[in-house]
Amino acid sequence: MPLRFYNTLTRKEEEFVPLRPGKAGVYVCGPTVYAPPHIGNLRTFFFADILHRYLEYRGMDVAFVMNLTDVDDKTIRGALQKGVPLDEYTQPFIDILFKNLDTLGLARADAYPRATEHVPGMIRLIERLFERGLAYEADGSVYFDISGFPGYGKLSRVDLSGTQRGARVADDSYEKGDVRDFALWKAAKAEDGAVGAVWQTPWGPGRPGWHIECSVMSMDELGETFDIHAGGIDLTFPHHEDEIAQSEGATGKQFARYWLHGEFLQIDGEKMAKSLGNVFTLQDLVAHGVKPSSIRYLFLTAHYRSQLNFSFEGLEAAGQAVRRIHATRKRLSEHRMQMEADPSDEPRLHHAAEEALGAFARAMDTDLNTSVALAALNEFVTRVNSRLDSLGTRPITAAEQQTALDVFDRIDTVFGFLAVADREEVVDPELALWVEERLVMRQDARRRRDFAAADVIRDELAARGVVVEDTAQGPRWTIST
Ligand SMILES: [Zn+2]
Repeated sequence: MPLRFYNTLTRKEEEFVPLRPGKAGVYVCGPTVYAPPHIGNLRTFFFADILHRYLEYRGMDVAFVMNLTDVDDKTIRGALQKGVPLDEYTQPFIDILFKNLDTLGLARADAYPRATEHVPGMIRLIERLFERGLAYEADGSVYFDISGFPGYGKLSRVDLSGTQRGARVADDSYEKGDVRDFALWKAAKAEDGAVGAVWQTPWGPGRPGWHIECSVMSMDELGETFDIHAGGIDLTFPHHEDEIAQSEGATGKQFARYWLHGEFLQIDGEKMAKSLGNVFTLQDLVAHGVKPSSIRYLFLTAHYRSQLNFSFEGLEAAGQAVRRIHATRKRLSEHRMQMEADPSDEPRLHHAAEEALGAFARAMDTDLNTSVALAALNEFVTRVNSRLDSLGTRPITAAEQQTALDVFDRIDTVFGFLAVADREEVVDPELALWVEERLVMRQDARRRRDFAAADVIRDELAARGVVVEDTAQGPRWTIST
């Protein structure tokens, strides 16, 4: 059965045919690192994680890239308010992000490009747009001329009828009713200089617009044409529309071939909003005793293109479901054969295993239908339990036991909540939170070159058996036993 995705570009579910057989290039718009990610952001990254893992489950060689937006209107505003340089402001949020990704068990990407490290490429892309007559300068800033790109609007299908030729918008975010020429490059302002966010260009000093950043990071990592571009539904316009205009306008080639968008999350039936006081971070939830494995499970219960209602009751039910599946796998793995099986008996779980993996793959092949795939796993759990409850004269053979355990393991390479639950058995979430907080403080101390403070924190961690390993993406830790 072919793998199919709903492509926002065509508004159709289509067979996924990669550019190069057996390989897939995937880019997902990552976070703006001006705050810890909230649970709505994490749902988007989780959806991209399931996409990543399922392509690998299908045997594909995946290049998976998630960017970090570390220079834009929001990060500059934050750095200015705190009175620190931009990179000093964003680094703690980058550290927290990686901790969160680990806590939720999201598989590591192949690359996490940062916008500030790709500015020369952005300047080159803007030069190409000038050469093609699609960019123009106004007051030291550079804008994209949407009237020169006939494909403008093809992704979001915005209404272009009211567009005024030459009307411009400088902000990174704007509404659908405000379709205009957008900023590729913004002339330097005093506040940009104050936080060290100014680069020199042939048309004067300034900084990139948000949209050009993703065009350049994705093409630098995956080539001018690549397979899948993913992100939250709110990014369709203007962000992704503008990415297409810039990239295709400069290269004359198709940019991303499949566009996948994840829906929003609601909290207790309401939109998440600071004003409603219902914006939760992962740390908030863990402090309330919520297990990350329950969050993973709850996310799987809704299709990525449906809104998900996030509630504490839902998390409670998800936690119960995880415990049932986890306990069944344990029961099966610890089962010891009471007597030699009659080899003429059909190993009855073989059939159930085949059915479960078949139903799982059919559901996932259908635009990653995780809720139906989850139902297949739950049905399998019921069959394993009823098999273990009524062995009678037909004991489980070693092969039957192994085949059934493989179902849990294979499905969990995609779902991942059993692996997270395994870890939770060993480490209590309160302790995990305590460790994460200290690691952020330790990173902070090191950056200030306050090595005495960093050593005190290291000793505190060691006293509770925490072993820290420093990696390129920040520290990882385990509890020594
Ligand atoms: Zn982006």
